[in-house]
Amino acid sequence: MNFTKLTMAILFCTAPALLGQPLQLDKVQGKTILLFTPHPDDDTFCCAGTLALLSKGGNKIHIIIYTNDDKGSLDPDMTSERLARIRMGEEEDACRVIGIPKENIHWLEYHDGMLEYANPRDLVEEVTKIIRTYRPDVVMSIDPGSEEVRWHKTDHRMAANNTADAIRAAEWHLYFPNQRLHDGLQPWKVPVEAYFYVTAKDANYWVNIDSVADLKLDAALAHVSQWEPSITKYRPDWDPQVHEKLKQGLKARAPKKDGHYVEAYRIAASFNQQ
Ligand SMILES: [Zn+2]
Repeated sequence: MNFTKLTMAILFCTAPALLGQPLQLDKVQGKTILLFTPHPDDDTFCCAGTLALLSKGGNKIHIIIYTNDDKGSLDPDMTSERLARIRMGEEEDACRVIGIPKENIHWLEYHDGMLEYANPRDLVEEVTKIIRTYRPDVVMSIDPGSEEVRWHKTDHRMAANNTADAIRAAEWHLYFPNQRLHDGLQPWKVPVEAYFYVTAKDANYWVNIDSVADLKLDAALAHVSQWEPSITKYRPDWDPQVHEKLKQGLKARAPKKDGHYVEAYRIAASFNQQ
């Protein structure tokens, strides 16, 4: 990279903050939002409050889910096929709570834990095509820079990096030119990226979710099989007392900033020029 490019990259990277006008993610109205998530629950746990606000704002929200989450059960009687069906139903329930219809949930159907072993070129091409098709105003995705993504969590690493790479590829017409020639898809430059699961030092925007904090918890607990006792021995419903106790416990531990329930993001724009 030459000096001019580096300078431009720094300027563009920090432009929202320099201008004192960071994107008001919770105030966006009438736009198209794509959220890429490795599993059918990360979108809820990270962003359900923001998504509920965006839904109330009349935005078109599409949830793209890389994997079918068909491995995360300790129940010896569970099968992958059954778990995938359960997780799909739970995701639909969770999205319904926050105002997203099931028609807007898109499954790429990779197996849980296997995303790293997909063909990387095919995977980035697949997601580039989705971005060029929907031409989103905002893309939400896992931050490739967070410690969890870098070091620990299978599928999260691949989803984070793949989405970032696809955002980059989507704007340059010479990447996957077959998409323009055969499908009529034009390049698309994503104006704003909102990265979730950010580290404290990387977060630069916090959405106040006070008005939808309970909705978020209801959506989180719609993922019944992701919580005990259902992880160890699957049951499709909650004991009401267990449900209430867990909900209150989650509420007590929910992230807060300046006395408000929040969801943290790293907002970025035009970093692809780096
Ligand atoms: Zn996950």
